[in-house]
Amino acid sequence: MDESQQPKPSHQNSGTTRKREDYLEWPEYFMAVAFLSAQRSKDPSSQVGACIVNQENKIVGIGYNGMPNGCDDDLLPWSRSADHWLDTKYPYVCHAELNAIMNKNSADVKGCTMHVALFPCNECAKLIIQAGIKEVVYLSDKYHDTPEMVASRRLLGMAGIQCRQFEPKRTKIVIDFNSINHPGMLNGATN
Ligand SMILES: [Zn+2]
Repeated sequence: MDESQQPKPSHQNSGTTRKREDYLEWPEYFMAVAFLSAQRSKDPSSQVGACIVNQENKIVGIGYNGMPNGCDDDLLPWSRSADHWLDTKYPYVCHAELNAIMNKNSADVKGCTMHVALFPCNECAKLIIQAGIKEVVYLSDKYHDTPEMVASRRLLGMAGIQCRQFEPKRTKIVIDFNSINHPGMLNGATN
């Protein structure tokens, strides 16, 4: 058999094996982590996640909205409106940003970036500023015109914190537990 007819190893047939091109980039990855953690939320009307990242692209804190530790979330109200404020969730619930900061696994979060699904409210803006976070990357700004957001922008702007809206390249990332058994289909990202 002529040597040119010998079957060649596949890596020679198709040239050098190249890395995947459709891997998740850092900002998508961190926002996806925020969205995944939001799935832990028990809030029936709003599930928000936050992910704090240091300057080495290492995750140092993750949080989602929920009732404070030790406070029974079956006893506290989850409603958005009621005759009395005390019967709504608002006086009780901890926002994702608060939990992400409090859950930090580093000494502090100074100089870090927070990735969060929703633009932070004024209360979270205070926490972000006092924690020394330098940048906020958010996906949705759907409450832009509420007083909480106006106050938040005022504070974050005065404190010199960069706020930037994340524009995802894809609208959906699918996590498929079966993909590990089907090599080549590991990419769970679509759209
Ligand atoms: Zn908040």
